[in-house]
Amino acid sequence: MAWDFETEPEFEAKLAWMRDFVREEIIPLETLAHEWRTPEGRQVFTKLVAPLKEQVKAQGLWAAHLPPDMGGLGFGQVKLGLMHEILGQCAYAPSIFGNNAPDSGNAELLAVGGTQEQRDKWMTPLLDGKIRSCFSMTEPGAGADPTLLSTTAMRDGDEWVINGHKWFSSNASIADILIVMVKTGDHETPYKNYSMIVVPTNTPGVNILRDVPTMGEPDHKTGEPGGHAEILYENVRVPFENIVGGEAGIGQGFALAQKRLGPGRIHHAMRWLGQSQRAFDLLCERALTRYAHGSILAEKQMVQDWIAESYAEMQAARLLTLQAAWKMDQLHAAGKHYSDARVEIGVIKFWGAKVLYNVIDRAIQIHGSLGYTTDLPLESMYRAARAARIYDGPDEVHKVTVARQVLKRYRPSEPSIEHVPTRRAAALEKFADSLDGLAISH
Ligand SMILES: Cc1cc2nc3c(=O)[nH]c(=O)nc-3n(C[C@H](O)[C@H](O)[C@H](O)COP(=O)(O)OP(=O)(O)OC[C@H]3O[C@@H](n4cnc5c(N)ncnc54)[C@H](O)[C@@H]3O)c2cc1C
Repeated sequence: MAWDFETEPEFEAKLAWMRDFVREEIIPLETLAHEWRTPEGRQVFTKLVAPLKEQVKAQGLWAAHLPPDMGGLGFGQVKLGLMHEILGQCAYAPSIFGNNAPDSGNAELLAVGGTQEQRDKWMTPLLDGKIRSCFSMTEPGAGADPTLLSTTAMRDGDEWVINGHKWFSSNASIADILIVMVKTGDHETPYKNYSMIVVPTNTPGVNILRDVPTMGEPDHKTGEPGGHAEILYENVRVPFENIVGGEAGIGQGFALAQKRLGPGRIHHAMRWLGQSQRAFDLLCERALTRYAHGSILAEKQMVQDWIAESYAEMQAARLLTLQAAWKMDQLHAAGKHYSDARVEIGVIKFWGAKVLYNVIDRAIQIHGSLGYTTDLPLESMYRAARAARIYDGPDEVHKVTVARQVLKRYRPSEPSIEHVPTRRAAALEKFADSLDGLAISH
Protein backbone atom coordinates (compact mmCIF):
# COMPACT_ATOMS: atom_id res chain seq x y z
CA MET A 1 0.00 0.00 0.00
CA ALA A 2 1.45 3.36 -0.96
CA TRP A 3 -1.24 5.86 0.02
CA ASP A 4 0.83 8.47 1.78
CA PHE A 5 -0.23 12.02 2.58
CA GLU A 6 3.02 13.08 4.20
CA THR A 7 5.83 15.17 2.76
CA GLU A 8 9.27 13.66 3.30
CA PRO A 9 11.13 15.57 6.06
CA GLU A 10 13.99 16.86 3.86
CA PHE A 11 11.57 18.37 1.37
CA GLU A 12 9.30 19.67 4.13
CA ALA A 13 12.35 21.57 5.45
CA LYS A 14 12.75 23.16 1.99
CA LEU A 15 9.07 24.10 1.96
CA ALA A 16 9.39 25.61 5.43
CA TRP A 17 12.32 27.70 4.18
CA MET A 18 10.22 28.79 1.19
CA ARG A 19 7.28 29.81 3.38
CA ASP A 20 9.49 32.08 5.49
CA PHE A 21 11.34 33.42 2.48
CA VAL A 22 8.18 34.28 0.54
CA ARG A 23 6.57 35.90 3.61
CA GLU A 24 9.62 37.85 4.79
CA GLU A 25 11.42 38.75 1.55
CA ILE A 26 8.95 38.68 -1.34
CA ILE A 27 5.47 39.64 -0.09
CA PRO A 28 6.78 42.97 1.31
CA LEU A 29 7.65 43.99 -2.28
CA GLU A 30 3.94 43.89 -3.20
CA THR A 31 2.78 47.14 -1.65
CA LEU A 32 5.39 49.03 -3.69
CA ALA A 33 3.95 47.67 -6.95
CA HIS A 34 3.18 51.19 -8.12
CA GLU A 35 6.84 52.19 -7.70
CA TRP A 36 8.07 49.26 -9.80
CA ARG A 37 6.08 50.43 -12.83
CA THR A 38 8.49 53.11 -14.04
CA PRO A 39 11.68 52.11 -15.95
CA GLU A 40 13.76 53.38 -13.00
CA GLY A 41 11.54 51.52 -10.56
CA ARG A 42 11.92 48.32 -12.55
CA GLN A 43 15.70 48.70 -12.35
CA VAL A 44 15.51 49.01 -8.57
CA PHE A 45 13.21 45.99 -8.46
CA THR A 46 15.63 43.94 -10.60
CA LYS A 47 18.48 44.94 -8.29
CA LEU A 48 16.47 44.02 -5.19
CA VAL A 49 15.44 40.59 -6.44
CA ALA A 50 18.84 39.56 -7.87
CA PRO A 51 20.24 38.47 -4.44
CA LEU A 52 16.93 36.78 -3.65
CA LYS A 53 17.33 34.66 -6.79
CA GLU A 54 20.84 33.75 -5.63
CA GLN A 55 19.44 32.58 -2.29
CA VAL A 56 16.92 30.41 -4.13
CA LYS A 57 19.72 28.92 -6.23
CA ALA A 58 21.80 28.28 -3.10
CA GLN A 59 18.84 26.34 -1.69
CA GLY A 60 18.73 24.23 -4.87
CA LEU A 61 15.22 25.43 -5.66
CA TRP A 62 15.79 27.42 -8.88
CA ALA A 63 13.89 26.31 -12.03
CA ALA A 64 12.78 23.10 -10.42
CA HIS A 65 10.28 22.26 -13.12
CA LEU A 66 12.30 20.06 -15.47
CA PRO A 67 13.77 16.57 -15.10
CA PRO A 68 17.58 16.52 -14.55
CA ASP A 69 18.28 15.11 -18.01
CA MET A 70 16.62 18.24 -19.38
CA GLY A 71 18.43 20.78 -17.28
CA GLY A 72 16.14 20.94 -14.26
CA LEU A 73 16.11 19.48 -10.79
CA GLY A 74 13.80 16.53 -11.38
CA PHE A 75 11.35 17.40 -8.63
CA GLY A 76 8.32 15.92 -10.38
CA GLN A 77 4.81 17.33 -10.26
CA VAL A 78 3.94 16.58 -6.62
CA LYS A 79 6.93 18.44 -5.22
CA LEU A 80 6.50 21.21 -7.75
CA GLY A 81 2.84 21.45 -6.82
CA LEU A 82 3.73 21.88 -3.15
CA MET A 83 6.22 24.57 -4.11
CA HIS A 84 3.69 26.38 -6.27
CA GLU A 85 1.20 26.46 -3.42
CA ILE A 86 3.69 28.67 -1.59
CA LEU A 87 4.75 30.65 -4.65
CA GLY A 88 1.13 31.35 -5.54
CA GLN A 89 0.77 33.60 -2.51
CA CYS A 90 2.57 36.40 -4.29
CA ALA A 91 2.70 37.26 -8.00
CA TYR A 92 6.43 38.07 -7.75
CA ALA A 93 7.45 34.75 -6.21
CA PRO A 94 7.46 32.40 -9.23
CA SER A 95 9.96 34.50 -11.20
CA ILE A 96 12.27 34.73 -8.17
CA PHE A 97 12.26 30.92 -8.20
CA GLY A 98 12.85 30.70 -11.98
CA ASN A 99 9.46 29.11 -12.33
CA ASN A 100 7.15 31.73 -13.76
CA ALA A 101 4.51 31.35 -16.44
CA PRO A 102 4.76 31.31 -19.36
CA ASP A 103 8.56 30.77 -19.28
CA SER A 104 8.42 27.57 -17.22
CA GLY A 105 5.82 26.01 -19.53
CA ASN A 106 7.73 27.10 -22.61
CA ALA A 107 10.98 25.64 -21.27
CA GLU A 108 9.08 22.44 -20.57
CA LEU A 109 7.68 22.45 -24.08
CA LEU A 110 11.15 22.79 -25.60
CA ALA A 111 12.40 20.10 -23.23
CA VAL A 112 9.81 17.54 -24.27
CA GLY A 113 9.28 18.58 -27.88
CA GLY A 114 12.26 20.61 -29.04
CA THR A 115 15.35 19.46 -30.91
CA GLN A 116 18.70 19.46 -29.10
CA GLU A 117 19.64 22.61 -30.99
CA GLN A 118 16.41 24.33 -29.89
CA ARG A 119 17.02 23.35 -26.28
CA ASP A 120 20.54 24.74 -26.35
CA LYS A 121 19.46 27.92 -28.09
CA TRP A 122 16.29 28.79 -26.15
CA MET A 123 15.55 26.37 -23.31
CA THR A 124 18.85 26.76 -21.47
CA PRO A 125 18.74 30.58 -21.43
CA LEU A 126 15.06 30.37 -20.37
CA LEU A 127 15.99 28.17 -17.43
CA ASP A 128 18.86 30.50 -16.55
CA GLY A 129 16.42 33.43 -16.56
CA LYS A 130 18.46 35.13 -19.31
CA ILE A 131 15.60 35.41 -21.80
CA ARG A 132 11.82 35.74 -21.53
CA SER A 133 9.21 34.02 -23.68
CA CYS A 134 5.59 34.00 -24.74
CA PHE A 135 3.10 31.39 -25.92
CA SER A 136 1.10 32.90 -28.76
CA MET A 137 -1.92 30.79 -29.65
CA THR A 138 -5.25 32.52 -29.05
CA GLU A 139 -6.70 34.71 -31.80
CA PRO A 140 -9.49 37.27 -31.66
CA GLY A 141 -11.58 34.80 -33.71
CA ALA A 142 -10.56 31.52 -32.06
CA GLY A 143 -9.64 30.36 -28.57
CA ALA A 144 -11.61 27.62 -26.88
CA ASP A 145 -11.87 25.74 -30.20
CA PRO A 146 -8.27 25.70 -31.47
CA THR A 147 -9.25 23.98 -34.72
CA LEU A 148 -10.50 27.42 -35.80
CA LEU A 149 -7.09 29.09 -35.46
CA SER A 150 -6.26 30.76 -38.76
CA THR A 151 -2.67 32.06 -38.45
CA THR A 152 -0.69 30.30 -41.18
CA ALA A 153 2.93 29.38 -41.79
CA MET A 154 3.74 28.66 -45.43
CA ARG A 155 6.99 27.02 -46.35
CA ASP A 156 9.19 29.02 -48.70
CA GLY A 157 12.48 27.25 -49.32
CA ASP A 158 14.44 27.22 -46.06
CA GLU A 159 12.00 29.52 -44.34
CA TRP A 160 8.50 29.72 -42.91
CA VAL A 161 6.39 32.76 -43.72
CA ILE A 162 3.88 33.53 -40.98
CA ASN A 163 0.73 35.61 -41.32
CA GLY A 164 -2.04 36.07 -38.82
CA HIS A 165 -3.56 37.92 -35.91
CA LYS A 166 -3.13 36.80 -32.30
CA TRP A 167 -4.14 38.26 -28.99
CA PHE A 168 -3.74 37.43 -25.34
CA SER A 169 -0.14 36.51 -26.05
CA SER A 170 0.91 36.97 -22.43
CA ASN A 171 4.33 38.52 -21.92
CA ALA A 172 4.91 39.11 -25.66
CA SER A 173 5.79 42.76 -25.26
CA ILE A 174 8.71 41.91 -22.96
CA ALA A 175 9.62 38.54 -24.47
CA ASP A 176 12.68 37.62 -26.51
CA ILE A 177 10.94 34.72 -28.23
CA LEU A 178 7.36 33.89 -29.15
CA ILE A 179 6.22 30.30 -29.54
CA VAL A 180 3.49 30.68 -32.14
CA MET A 181 0.77 28.14 -32.94
CA VAL A 182 0.36 28.14 -36.71
CA LYS A 183 -1.57 26.26 -39.35
CA THR A 184 0.86 24.29 -41.50
CA GLY A 185 -1.39 21.72 -43.15
CA ASP A 186 -4.83 20.95 -44.51
CA HIS A 187 -5.51 17.40 -43.37
CA GLU A 188 -8.99 16.03 -42.79
CA THR A 189 -8.08 15.58 -39.12
CA PRO A 190 -7.84 19.22 -38.05
CA TYR A 191 -5.66 18.35 -35.05
CA LYS A 192 -2.83 17.46 -37.41
CA ASN A 193 -2.87 20.81 -39.15
CA TYR A 194 -1.05 22.79 -36.51
CA SER A 195 2.57 23.26 -35.52
CA MET A 196 4.53 25.53 -33.21
CA ILE A 197 7.25 27.83 -34.44
CA VAL A 198 9.74 29.83 -32.40
CA VAL A 199 9.78 33.42 -33.57
CA PRO A 200 12.31 35.88 -32.12
CA THR A 201 10.28 38.93 -31.13
CA ASN A 202 12.55 41.30 -33.05
CA THR A 203 11.86 39.55 -36.38
CA PRO A 204 10.58 42.02 -39.02
CA GLY A 205 6.82 41.70 -39.43
CA VAL A 206 6.11 40.96 -35.73
CA ASN A 207 3.89 43.91 -34.97
CA ILE A 208 2.89 44.15 -31.33
CA LEU A 209 -0.12 46.42 -31.54
CA ARG A 210 -0.75 46.78 -27.81
CA ASP A 211 -1.02 45.04 -24.49
CA VAL A 212 -4.77 44.68 -24.04
CA PRO A 213 -5.93 46.28 -20.78
CA THR A 214 -7.93 43.76 -18.76
CA MET A 215 -10.13 43.40 -15.71
CA GLY A 216 -7.01 42.21 -13.85
CA GLU A 217 -4.99 45.26 -14.89
CA PRO A 218 -7.23 47.94 -16.42
CA ASP A 219 -4.46 50.55 -16.38
CA HIS A 220 -1.76 48.27 -17.83
CA LYS A 221 0.63 50.03 -20.22
CA THR A 222 2.10 48.20 -23.20
CA GLY A 223 5.59 46.96 -22.37
CA GLU A 224 5.05 46.51 -18.64
CA PRO A 225 5.56 42.95 -17.35
CA GLY A 226 2.48 40.76 -17.27
CA GLY A 227 0.74 42.19 -20.34
CA HIS A 228 -1.46 40.34 -22.81
CA ALA A 229 -0.44 41.44 -26.28
CA GLU A 230 -2.34 41.76 -29.51
CA ILE A 231 0.03 40.90 -32.36
CA LEU A 232 -0.13 41.09 -36.13
CA TYR A 233 2.21 38.65 -37.84
CA GLU A 234 2.81 40.11 -41.29
CA ASN A 235 5.02 38.08 -43.63
CA VAL A 236 7.23 37.08 -40.72
CA ARG A 237 10.12 34.97 -42.00
CA VAL A 238 11.94 32.52 -39.74
CA PRO A 239 14.32 29.66 -40.60
CA PHE A 240 12.72 26.26 -41.26
CA GLU A 241 14.49 24.76 -38.24
CA ASN A 242 12.55 27.05 -35.88
CA ILE A 243 9.61 24.67 -36.01
CA VAL A 244 9.41 23.04 -32.58
CA GLY A 245 10.64 19.47 -32.94
CA GLY A 246 12.11 20.10 -36.40
CA GLU A 247 10.66 18.23 -39.40
CA ALA A 248 9.01 15.72 -37.04
CA GLY A 249 7.24 18.59 -35.28
CA ILE A 250 5.14 19.48 -38.32
CA GLY A 251 1.49 18.79 -37.41
CA GLN A 252 2.39 18.15 -33.76
CA GLY A 253 1.31 21.53 -32.41
CA PHE A 254 -1.71 20.33 -30.45
CA ALA A 255 -0.01 17.22 -29.12
CA LEU A 256 2.84 19.41 -27.87
CA ALA A 257 0.41 21.95 -26.42
CA GLN A 258 -1.13 19.20 -24.29
CA LYS A 259 2.29 18.26 -22.99
CA ARG A 260 2.93 21.88 -22.13
CA LEU A 261 -0.44 22.62 -20.58
CA GLY A 262 -0.76 19.52 -18.37
CA PRO A 263 1.98 20.40 -15.87
CA GLY A 264 1.08 24.08 -16.19
CA ARG A 265 -2.43 23.36 -14.94
CA ILE A 266 -1.06 21.63 -11.83
CA HIS A 267 1.09 24.67 -11.14
CA HIS A 268 -1.84 27.02 -11.71
CA ALA A 269 -4.15 25.02 -9.46
CA MET A 270 -1.61 24.94 -6.64
CA ARG A 271 -0.84 28.65 -7.03
CA TRP A 272 -4.58 29.33 -6.79
CA LEU A 273 -4.53 27.49 -3.48
CA GLY A 274 -1.79 29.80 -2.26
CA GLN A 275 -4.03 32.75 -3.16
CA SER A 276 -7.11 31.08 -1.67
CA GLN A 277 -5.25 30.47 1.58
CA ARG A 278 -4.32 34.14 1.81
CA ALA A 279 -7.95 35.13 1.32
CA PHE A 280 -9.07 32.44 3.78
CA ASP A 281 -6.65 33.75 6.43
CA LEU A 282 -8.22 37.19 6.03
CA LEU A 283 -11.72 35.69 6.20
CA CYS A 284 -10.97 33.91 9.48
CA GLU A 285 -9.12 36.84 11.01
CA ARG A 286 -12.02 39.18 10.23
CA ALA A 287 -14.55 36.68 11.61
CA LEU A 288 -12.73 36.75 14.94
CA THR A 289 -12.27 40.52 14.95
CA ARG A 290 -15.45 42.19 13.73
CA TYR A 291 -18.39 42.65 16.10
CA ALA A 292 -21.96 43.16 14.82
CA HIS A 293 -25.48 42.42 16.03
CA GLY A 294 -24.53 41.13 19.43
CA SER A 295 -21.48 38.96 18.69
CA ILE A 296 -18.28 38.65 16.76
CA LEU A 297 -18.93 37.50 13.19
CA ALA A 298 -17.28 34.13 13.92
CA GLU A 299 -20.31 33.29 16.06
CA LYS A 300 -22.83 33.80 13.24
CA GLN A 301 -23.84 30.51 11.68
CA MET A 302 -23.80 31.95 8.17
CA VAL A 303 -20.18 32.98 8.65
CA GLN A 304 -19.35 29.57 10.07
CA ASP A 305 -20.88 28.12 6.93
CA TRP A 306 -18.50 30.21 4.77
CA ILE A 307 -15.52 29.09 6.83
CA ALA A 308 -16.48 25.42 6.72
CA GLU A 309 -17.36 25.52 3.01
CA SER A 310 -14.14 27.35 2.12
CA TYR A 311 -12.02 25.00 4.18
CA ALA A 312 -13.66 21.92 2.62
CA GLU A 313 -13.43 23.29 -0.92
CA MET A 314 -9.76 24.19 -0.51
CA GLN A 315 -8.91 20.86 1.03
CA ALA A 316 -10.72 19.04 -1.78
CA ALA A 317 -8.93 21.15 -4.41
CA ARG A 318 -5.58 20.44 -2.75
CA LEU A 319 -6.10 16.70 -2.62
CA LEU A 320 -7.47 16.57 -6.16
CA THR A 321 -4.52 18.55 -7.46
CA LEU A 322 -1.88 16.57 -5.62
CA GLN A 323 -3.49 13.34 -6.79
CA ALA A 324 -3.43 14.61 -10.39
CA ALA A 325 0.23 15.56 -9.89
CA TRP A 326 0.99 12.12 -8.45
CA LYS A 327 -0.66 10.44 -11.41
CA MET A 328 1.40 12.53 -13.81
CA ASP A 329 4.57 11.53 -11.98
CA GLN A 330 3.58 7.88 -12.25
CA LEU A 331 2.92 8.28 -15.97
CA HIS A 332 6.22 10.08 -16.48
CA ALA A 333 8.08 7.33 -14.63
CA ALA A 334 6.40 4.73 -16.84
CA GLY A 335 7.35 6.67 -19.98
CA LYS A 336 3.68 7.38 -20.74
CA HIS A 337 1.89 10.45 -22.01
CA TYR A 338 0.17 12.83 -19.58
CA SER A 339 -3.02 12.48 -21.63
CA ASP A 340 -3.88 9.48 -19.45
CA ALA A 341 -4.36 12.00 -16.64
CA ARG A 342 -6.65 14.25 -18.64
CA VAL A 343 -9.69 13.68 -16.40
CA GLU A 344 -7.74 14.57 -13.27
CA ILE A 345 -6.20 17.62 -14.95
CA GLY A 346 -9.56 18.76 -16.35
CA VAL A 347 -11.19 18.47 -12.92
CA ILE A 348 -8.59 20.54 -11.10
CA LYS A 349 -8.65 23.23 -13.77
CA PHE A 350 -12.34 24.09 -13.32
CA TRP A 351 -12.66 23.07 -9.67
CA GLY A 352 -9.53 24.93 -8.58
CA ALA A 353 -10.60 28.10 -10.40
CA LYS A 354 -14.04 27.93 -8.79
CA VAL A 355 -12.65 27.46 -5.28
CA LEU A 356 -10.29 30.38 -5.73
CA TYR A 357 -13.16 32.58 -6.83
CA ASN A 358 -15.51 31.41 -4.04
CA VAL A 359 -13.03 31.89 -1.20
CA ILE A 360 -11.98 35.37 -2.30
CA ASP A 361 -15.62 36.33 -2.77
CA ARG A 362 -16.51 35.24 0.79
CA ALA A 363 -13.44 37.03 2.16
CA ILE A 364 -14.58 40.24 0.46
CA GLN A 365 -18.11 39.78 1.76
CA ILE A 366 -17.05 39.41 5.39
CA HIS A 367 -14.99 42.58 5.17
CA GLY A 368 -17.98 44.58 3.87
CA SER A 369 -16.96 47.95 2.47
CA LEU A 370 -13.33 47.40 3.51
CA GLY A 371 -13.21 44.28 1.33
CA TYR A 372 -14.21 46.37 -1.67
CA THR A 373 -11.41 48.90 -1.16
CA THR A 374 -7.80 48.86 -2.29
CA ASP A 375 -6.78 49.00 1.37
CA LEU A 376 -6.83 45.21 1.20
CA PRO A 377 -5.46 43.00 -1.61
CA LEU A 378 -8.78 41.16 -1.94
CA GLU A 379 -10.23 43.30 -4.72
CA SER A 380 -7.21 42.78 -6.98
CA MET A 381 -7.09 39.09 -6.11
CA TYR A 382 -10.75 38.86 -7.10
CA ARG A 383 -10.17 40.55 -10.45
CA ALA A 384 -7.22 38.27 -11.20
CA ALA A 385 -9.16 35.20 -10.06
CA ARG A 386 -11.91 35.80 -12.59
CA ALA A 387 -9.49 35.08 -15.42
CA ALA A 388 -8.66 31.65 -14.00
CA ARG A 389 -12.02 30.39 -15.25
CA ILE A 390 -11.05 31.39 -18.80
CA TYR A 391 -7.30 31.00 -19.47
CA ASP A 392 -5.79 27.63 -20.32
CA GLY A 393 -9.24 26.66 -21.56
CA PRO A 394 -12.53 27.87 -20.10
CA ASP A 395 -14.40 25.85 -17.44
CA GLU A 396 -16.88 24.50 -19.95
CA VAL A 397 -14.24 22.96 -22.20
CA HIS A 398 -12.65 21.12 -19.26
CA LYS A 399 -16.05 19.94 -18.08
CA VAL A 400 -16.76 18.61 -21.58
CA THR A 401 -13.45 16.67 -21.50
CA VAL A 402 -14.15 15.27 -18.06
CA ALA A 403 -17.73 14.29 -18.89
CA ARG A 404 -16.73 12.67 -22.20
CA GLN A 405 -14.00 10.59 -20.58
CA VAL A 406 -16.19 9.60 -17.64
CA LEU A 407 -19.02 8.61 -19.98
CA LYS A 408 -16.66 6.20 -21.75
CA ARG A 409 -16.92 4.05 -18.63
CA TYR A 410 -20.69 3.59 -19.22
CA ARG A 411 -23.00 1.91 -21.74
CA PRO A 412 -26.62 2.70 -22.56
CA SER A 413 -29.00 0.28 -20.87
CA GLU A 414 -32.72 -0.32 -21.32
CA PRO A 415 -34.08 -1.19 -18.84
CA SER A 416 -31.86 0.49 -16.25
CA ILE A 417 -29.13 -1.72 -14.77
CA GLU A 418 -30.83 -1.08 -11.42
CA HIS A 419 -34.38 -1.86 -12.64
CA VAL A 420 -35.73 -3.75 -9.60
CA PRO A 421 -38.27 -6.06 -11.36
CA THR A 422 -35.54 -7.20 -13.81
CA ARG A 423 -33.04 -7.76 -10.99
CA ARG A 424 -35.69 -9.57 -8.97
CA ALA A 425 -36.43 -11.94 -11.86
CA ALA A 426 -32.70 -12.66 -12.18
CA ALA A 427 -32.40 -13.21 -8.41
CA LEU A 428 -35.35 -15.63 -8.44
CA GLU A 429 -33.60 -17.63 -11.13
CA LYS A 430 -30.18 -17.51 -9.41
CA PHE A 431 -31.50 -18.64 -6.03
CA ALA A 432 -34.33 -20.90 -7.36
CA ASP A 433 -33.11 -24.02 -5.53
CA SER A 434 -33.09 -22.29 -2.15
CA LEU A 435 -36.43 -20.59 -2.67
CA ASP A 436 -38.40 -23.78 -3.38
CA GLY A 437 -40.22 -23.88 -0.05
CA LEU A 438 -41.23 -20.19 -0.05
CA ALA A 439 -44.46 -18.68 -1.36
CA ILE A 440 -43.04 -16.27 -3.96
CA SER A 441 -45.11 -13.40 -5.36
CA HIS A 442 -44.37 -12.65 -9.03
C1 LIG B 1 -5.40 36.43 -18.33
C2 LIG B 1 -5.34 35.61 -19.58
C3 LIG B 1 -4.11 35.20 -20.07
C4 LIG B 1 -4.04 34.46 -21.25
N1 LIG B 1 -2.80 34.11 -21.74
C5 LIG B 1 -2.71 33.50 -22.94
C6 LIG B 1 -1.44 33.22 -23.53
O1 LIG B 1 -0.40 33.48 -22.94
N2 LIG B 1 -1.41 32.67 -24.76
C7 LIG B 1 -2.53 32.35 -25.45
O2 LIG B 1 -2.42 31.85 -26.56
N3 LIG B 1 -3.76 32.60 -24.92
C8 LIG B 1 -3.88 33.16 -23.68
N4 LIG B 1 -5.13 33.45 -23.14
C9 LIG B 1 -6.31 33.13 -23.91
C10 LIG B 1 -7.08 31.95 -23.36
O3 LIG B 1 -6.37 30.76 -23.51
C11 LIG B 1 -8.43 31.95 -24.08
O4 LIG B 1 -9.14 33.08 -23.59
C12 LIG B 1 -9.24 30.71 -23.85
O5 LIG B 1 -8.66 29.60 -24.47
C13 LIG B 1 -10.67 30.87 -24.37
O6 LIG B 1 -10.68 31.33 -25.68
P1 LIG B 1 -11.56 32.63 -26.07
O7 LIG B 1 -11.22 33.70 -25.11
O8 LIG B 1 -11.35 32.92 -27.51
O9 LIG B 1 -13.04 32.20 -25.80
P2 LIG B 1 -14.11 31.62 -26.89
O10 LIG B 1 -13.48 30.56 -27.72
O11 LIG B 1 -14.71 32.78 -27.59
O12 LIG B 1 -15.16 31.01 -25.88
C14 LIG B 1 -16.04 31.88 -25.18
C15 LIG B 1 -16.86 31.09 -24.20
O13 LIG B 1 -17.62 30.12 -24.88
C16 LIG B 1 -17.91 29.06 -24.02
N5 LIG B 1 -17.55 27.79 -24.67
C17 LIG B 1 -16.52 27.55 -25.50
N6 LIG B 1 -16.53 26.24 -25.87
C18 LIG B 1 -17.57 25.66 -25.26
C19 LIG B 1 -18.09 24.34 -25.22
N7 LIG B 1 -17.53 23.34 -25.91
N8 LIG B 1 -19.18 24.10 -24.45
C20 LIG B 1 -19.76 25.10 -23.73
N9 LIG B 1 -19.30 26.36 -23.73
C21 LIG B 1 -18.23 26.63 -24.47
C22 LIG B 1 -17.08 29.28 -22.75
O14 LIG B 1 -17.91 29.80 -21.74
C23 LIG B 1 -16.06 30.28 -23.19
O15 LIG B 1 -15.58 31.07 -22.11
C24 LIG B 1 -5.22 34.14 -21.95
C25 LIG B 1 -6.46 34.55 -21.43
C26 LIG B 1 -6.53 35.27 -20.28
C27 LIG B 1 -7.87 35.71 -19.77
